[in-house]
Amino acid sequence: MTTPSLASLPAVDRLLAEPPLAVQAATHGRRLVTDCVRAELAAAREAMLAGAALPDVPALLAAIEGRIAADTRARLRRVFNLTGTVLHTNLGRATLPEEAISAMVEAARHPCALEYDIDSGGRGDRDDLVSELLAELTGGEAATVVNNNAAAVFLLLNTLAQRKEVIVSRGELVEIGGAFRVPDIMKRAGAKLVEVGCTNRSHARDFEEAITARTAMLMKVHTSNYAVHGFTKAVPQAELAAIAHARGLPFVEDLGSGTLTDLDAWGLPHEPTPREAIAAGADIVTFSGDKLLGGPQAGILVGRRELIAKIKKNPLKRALRVGKITLAGLEAVLRLYRDPERLPERLETLRLLTRPQAEILAQAERLQPAITQALAGWPLILTVEPMRSQIGSGSLPVDRLPSAGLVCRPLKKGGTLNRLEKALRALPVPVIGRIADNALWLDLRCLRAADEADFAAQCAVLARCAK
Ligand SMILES: *Cc1c(COP(=O)(O)O)cnc(C)c1O
Repeated sequence: MTTPSLASLPAVDRLLAEPPLAVQAATHGRRLVTDCVRAELAAAREAMLAGAALPDVPALLAAIEGRIAADTRARLRRVFNLTGTVLHTNLGRATLPEEAISAMVEAARHPCALEYDIDSGGRGDRDDLVSELLAELTGGEAATVVNNNAAAVFLLLNTLAQRKEVIVSRGELVEIGGAFRVPDIMKRAGAKLVEVGCTNRSHARDFEEAITARTAMLMKVHTSNYAVHGFTKAVPQAELAAIAHARGLPFVEDLGSGTLTDLDAWGLPHEPTPREAIAAGADIVTFSGDKLLGGPQAGILVGRRELIAKIKKNPLKRALRVGKITLAGLEAVLRLYRDPERLPERLETLRLLTRPQAEILAQAERLQPAITQALAGWPLILTVEPMRSQIGSGSLPVDRLPSAGLVCRPLKKGGTLNRLEKALRALPVPVIGRIADNALWLDLRCLRAADEADFAAQCAVLARCAK
């Protein structure tokens, strides 16, 4: 047998003339298809030099179509979040309610009165779209919205504490998701951090003694992604506010998550609300739009009118502001909070967090036969089991929600779980689970009933990668 000659590979034009590629060129443009043909021919040449056989035309066409598909697929892809973490930062945090989605689509499609007062025909202020709602829902006087909560904290510090000192309890110097560290933000904002107390305990007198002529504010940071247990003491908000106010200083609180409803009412663990913080004397509170609030990515500042006015005058506000699509989504989400009774049905995040375990268990049982069949060739056993979800995004770090799902346990040692995890990620809508305790856990809390059939159907291809 002779080595196939590289010259026997078809020419680029010959392949481009094949009907399937003509169809691809009509959809994606000739240039992209030509590039994929060239890339595939180069790969085939390489493979042949390494000893591979001459590929036939159908094989080349299939490979080229595969390249085109990979090259034209959006990079931001939808996934199934079966990690058990509802507000998963790496998976985009909150999924939005329909009301917000339609408002965002409408704002994207049409011109809208973003900074235009329809009544007077004059200039408007984009914050006015949500500031009244935010005031109503939090008890604050005024509000402004920026890109995310990190930006909100940054803008707050830069406006009110540049070249001045900010007193924070040592136990609250948190790092959130690696990139947000209170001391770093403080430094970049031009403020000087004054730490008081110890990691586990701080007292009122620690704060009182730290106040100097250079103090700009007292700050409380919600330690959202960890909890210190045991011999702990934190100074209550009202006491901190009183200490600050007695010296004519503002007391500000970074809440992080910021839900606008009382989570206890829905059987969830308590999370401090902006309303509580403001009632306790906070002059400004900051929180995220896409954590427990359940809206689009945003950072919200609410509080005293004159302080918000100062913050809005900072030129950095312009650099950190949000666009019309965010405001459209945020406004729609805030409107849902005006009808708290129906919130768990309408606010997707709250619906997911309050899904009863029995309902999730029933869903797991419905899916079990199809998934068992899809995994028939795999050396593992699939069971339906109770498990515990977490809220995520640093909210309520120690609390777990009773949930249920599918658990895959390997029958033998070796890379079965890693192979399965990879195969799940390679599905048309990648499925993201969690490996722990020598099992792959698929928590079904975040699988919508409407997606159940598609989820089961796409899993059928897993049978092909069994070994
Ligand atoms: C999450 C969080 C932040 C950062 O908010 P982003 O919206 O992610 O920018 C800041 N502070 C606290 C306490 C947080 O929990």
